[in-house]
Amino acid sequence: MKVAIIGTGYVGLPTGVGLAELGNQVTCIDREPSKIDALNAGKITLFEEGLEELFHKNVKAGRIKFTTSMKEGIESADLVIIAVGTPPHPITKEADMKYIHAAATELADYLTGYTVVATKSTVPVGTGDDIETLISKKNPKADFDVVSLPEFLREGFAVYDFFHPDRIVVGANTKRAKEVISELYKPFKGKTNMLFVKRRSSETIKYASNAFLAIKIHYINEMANFCEKSGADVYEVAMGMGADSRIGPKFLNPGPGYGGSCFPKDTNAMAFMGRMNGVDLSLIETAIKGNDQRKKQMAKRVLDCVAGLKTPRIAVLGLAFKGGTDDCRESPAMEILGEILSVPGPKVTVYDPKAMDNARKMLGNKVMYAKDAYEAAKGADVLVILTEWNSFKKLDLAKLAGLMNHKRIVDLRNTFRTEDATAAGFEYCGVGK
Ligand code: NAD
Repeated sequence: MKVAIIGTGYVGLPTGVGLAELGNQVTCIDREPSKIDALNAGKITLFEEGLEELFHKNVKAGRIKFTTSMKEGIESADLVIIAVGTPPHPITKEADMKYIHAAATELADYLTGYTVVATKSTVPVGTGDDIETLISKKNPKADFDVVSLPEFLREGFAVYDFFHPDRIVVGANTKRAKEVISELYKPFKGKTNMLFVKRRSSETIKYASNAFLAIKIHYINEMANFCEKSGADVYEVAMGMGADSRIGPKFLNPGPGYGGSCFPKDTNAMAFMGRMNGVDLSLIETAIKGNDQRKKQMAKRVLDCVAGLKTPRIAVLGLAFKGGTDDCRESPAMEILGEILSVPGPKVTVYDPKAMDNARKMLGNKVMYAKDAYEAAKGADVLVILTEWNSFKKLDLAKLAGLMNHKRIVDLRNTFRTEDATAAGFEYCGVGK
């Protein structure tokens, strides 16, 4: 199938590469020339496990190409996938639809023959109707259907999730559109759940899922706070809860709060949609508020550790919003760091295995950058772990202790076992135990 993908970011690029690997002819379109130039020069523009290898393989096989030209990508496409950003509006926090509307308007002129236009971007309920109207107005002769095809991939596992989806949700209102999407996902037939639903249901499923997961994280973080006061261990509590198949063990890891480019914006957008529809979504509103507060509480936990020191030095390990990605957007690590840096005094050195370039763009010269965890720890009064990178688990605690001024760890990802850290001479503060 000939597929055009508009938007070559964290969703568009892995999707394009994955669809090419399945044998489709893919054209990835992006309005940012620097991205397209880099991809055409054989340089991958974001980090995802296994993506680079598949990218080179499919470029070499001639199954995927990159362009800034809508015309070039859309004219021959059977299917156009919109994967542009839907960032939060700075004031209302609703999903800002300017990129979606621009993409729909720009693609309209180039539709030829019957084409399915699918949204993989996370979009408010009713967006499919808006896209339909925009395209029809611009090109009244266009023969097309608009489908909602929400994306559930986890950043850091985008390639794995593309080939092993838990489910594929298709919001299609016509038989022809359903047939095109069924053909696209034929390789997954019998291997995963393919759910055909109303377009508006599909749009809602994505927000309802992300809001539910955010609430689950907020819940276990509240339990972590409770365990710290009551003498229970949140891991044992989570293990006991997760063994109940109605609850399930996933998303019961306590930490510094949820973040990333999806959960904060999608919970806010869902809450906004609730308010617009006069529906009480107070559970979601509470999770949003609690999650914001949590990052402030965690920053205070770090600052309390260096209170009273004349020239406090803080070493921060982890900047990406989670392990396995270089993405720092809405990263709890960056927000906690922002709180720490808002207080005069502490000097901060940071290290992340993959996110240094992205972090540098956001932090500039407000911090010092280390080449590894040990360099960051040199002379520090507290070592703070903010992202759950596997490589941090393998750090030599005795070596770290030997490098530091005061031997303190605030481990907001529970990377280390308390007994190992204390055996190495650390005062150790994890989460929920
Ligand atoms: P991103 O910012 O990484 O990528 C979006 C890309 O679209 C950018 O490269 C931008 O230049 C391009 N773009 C914007 N307008 C364009 C236009 N008119 N024509 C061509 N290119 C255009 O965003 P992302 O993280 O890939 O997210 C995309 C959508 O997918 C969002 O709605 C997001 O909520 C949703 N989503 C993201 C994830 C994730 O893990 N990042 C997971 C599921 C769903």
